[in-house]
Amino acid sequence: MIVQDIIQQLETLAPLAYAEEFDNVGLLIGDKNTAVKGVLVTLDCLPEVVDEAVNNDCNLIVSFHPIIFKGLKSINGKTYVERVVQKAIRNDIAIYAIHTALDNAFEGVNAGICEVLDLKNKSILMPQTGTLKKLITYVPHAESENLRSALFELGVGAVGNYENCSFNSEGLGTFKGNKESNPVLGNPSEMKQVEETKIEITFAKHLKPVVLKTLFKTHPYEEVAYEIRTLENKNQHIGMGMIGDLKSPMPETDFLEFVKNKMKSAVIRHSKLLNKKIRKVAVLGGSGSFAISTAKSAGADAFISADLKYHDFFTAEDEILLMDIGHYESEQYTKNLLVSYLKKKIPNFAILLSKINTNPVKYK
Ligand SMILES: [Zn+2]
Repeated sequence: MIVQDIIQQLETLAPLAYAEEFDNVGLLIGDKNTAVKGVLVTLDCLPEVVDEAVNNDCNLIVSFHPIIFKGLKSINGKTYVERVVQKAIRNDIAIYAIHTALDNAFEGVNAGICEVLDLKNKSILMPQTGTLKKLITYVPHAESENLRSALFELGVGAVGNYENCSFNSEGLGTFKGNKESNPVLGNPSEMKQVEETKIEITFAKHLKPVVLKTLFKTHPYEEVAYEIRTLENKNQHIGMGMIGDLKSPMPETDFLEFVKNKMKSAVIRHSKLLNKKIRKVAVLGGSGSFAISTAKSAGADAFISADLKYHDFFTAEDEILLMDIGHYESEQYTKNLLVSYLKKKIPNFAILLSKINTNPVKYK
């Protein structure tokens, strides 16, 4: 087992292609070819978490938040970030950060909150656009089934709750090679007509390298005829926040108490109570004020997030119950989610949940 094997599993759950542009995700410290002795999963990578890794013989830390976020001009130990970097390198410990790639994943941070709150009919609150692509390729009719199957195996053609989606039309392809050509059908310099199938199929953008590799490997032509287009459609599988329904509607005060218990919040800062039952709930782990208006227009009765500012609470406008449950509290189950995912994918391997509460905010 090397670092790259663990990374591959993590990036199947949360491809880095969907991380936000401002973010700094991936392998921040270490070598992807190093053999892994054990993995420690944490929300934040602090000096004491590196100590915990050393004490438990783990040489890979999977952290939700990236410890290195902007450029470091020195590494002399004057900030906690520099001390973590020094300590990790000294002890030969790799650090991988997943952050917004997991925020945007369908089975990520917000699915974790939905599970804790037992929300039904969950869907992405802010589906990303520009992350779906379409492959159009022209293949001899007899080879079309083979090519479609090879593409479907990659997860190409998945739309919502459907898989193996494609559109196929029949037509006449023509080509004529030059003397240097080596056509699989006909002879060089001969004008050729072939019954071809036009296959149209959509896929998520992170699959592009494997789609092209499979296309070139499976398509019989010397010059593969294909186009790839970027679609503006919303991607139902990728995006920030989630929205779902409570199993049964709850009065606001009961709901506040319910969330406080489930999310282990010491304090919930919330907007004015509206005297209505809570049915539909939007959630966004971490700083989520940017999604308030989306939660409102999606018809959420309550929006659970963190880092809401004074003026954000005014934007509830008597339409929604805004709840700031604390940044750490909103993301705390992310590490459990990562541990159970990795344990399922790599059984009988040392994958540990950090025991350190890294919340820098204290309550009195
Ligand atoms: Zn966060």
